[in-house]
Amino acid sequence: MHYVTINGGGLGVVINHELIDLQTASISLGLALPCTDMWGLIDAGSEAQLEVENVARQAHERRIAGSPYEPQKVTSALPHLRRNVFCIGKNYADHAAEIADKMGISADLPKYPIVFSKATNTLIGPLDTIPLHAGVTRKIDYEGELALVIGKAGVNITKQDAWQHILGYACYNDVSARDLQKRHGQWHLGKCLDGFGPMGPAITPTYGQALSNDTRLTCKVNGEVRQDATLAQMIFDIPTLIATLSAGITLEVGDVIATGTPAGVGMGFNPMRFLEPGDEVEVAIDGTLPLTNTLAKTKT
Ligand code: MG
Repeated sequence: MHYVTINGGGLGVVINHELIDLQTASISLGLALPCTDMWGLIDAGSEAQLEVENVARQAHERRIAGSPYEPQKVTSALPHLRRNVFCIGKNYADHAAEIADKMGISADLPKYPIVFSKATNTLIGPLDTIPLHAGVTRKIDYEGELALVIGKAGVNITKQDAWQHILGYACYNDVSARDLQKRHGQWHLGKCLDGFGPMGPAITPTYGQALSNDTRLTCKVNGEVRQDATLAQMIFDIPTLIATLSAGITLEVGDVIATGTPAGVGMGFNPMRFLEPGDEVEVAIDGTLPLTNTLAKTKT
C-alpha cells in the first residue's frame, strides 16, 4: 500500500500496481473518507489512515475507481513542505571516504550524526524537471536517499519509540551543487537551490514497524547503477537519527528526514561525473515506488 497525490491534488493509493482514486472510490462504495488530500491524511493520524486503507482495499477488491499506476498520473506525494527537510550528512562510511579528499575535509567517520537542512523551495515531485540553474552552478550531483515522514509529533523521542513516530518512507534525491557546497564552506547554498529536493512519488506506511536492514537503495543515472547499498550500511541507524533530531527539537507531523546517501555520487568518481543536461536519475528503494527526475536540458 502506497499513499500518493493524484494530479489535481486528490488522495490516492497504489495497491499491486493499481492506482485508486479514493474520492471516487468512497462515493461509489458509500463509505466516508476522513480526508481528501495528503496533508489531511497525515494530520488525521493513524486511525483515519486505517479507514482510508479500508476504502482502498474494498475498491481494489471490487475493481472500483482503479487504473494501472503510471508515474505521470501522480504529483509530489507531499504537495508542499511545512518545514525544512532534516538531512543527515556522511551517514554511509564509503560515501564519507569518497568525498573527503574532493571536499578537502576529514575522512574520519562522524562520531555523531551530521545534520543540515534543505529549504522548502527544494521540493519537486516525480517526473518534475530538476532546474539547471545555469550561471549559478556547473556541478550538479545526485544523492539517492531514503526519506522518512513523521506521523506522530514528539520531542526527546527514544530509540525504542522511534518507529512509532514514523508514518512512512519515500525515495528522495538530495540534489547538490558541489561548487557552491565547497566554495561557501557550508552546505546551505549548495543544497537549497529551487527544485533540488525531488521526493516521492509515494509515502509508503510502515505501521510502527522497523524497515529491514536488508532494504536496498539504488540510484541510476541514465539506467547505469551508480549507488547500491542497504540500510545495514548506515553509520547511524534510523532510531538513532530520530533520537538525535528530536533531542530538544519537537518533530512535527509531516516533517521529512533524509537519512543520507551511500557511495557512488558523481563527485566520488575519478574523473568526477556530475549530471549533464537531460540526464535521468532514478532512485529506487525496496517496498516503495521509484522516483525518476530529469535534469533540465536548457537554462531554467
Ligand atoms: Mg545527502
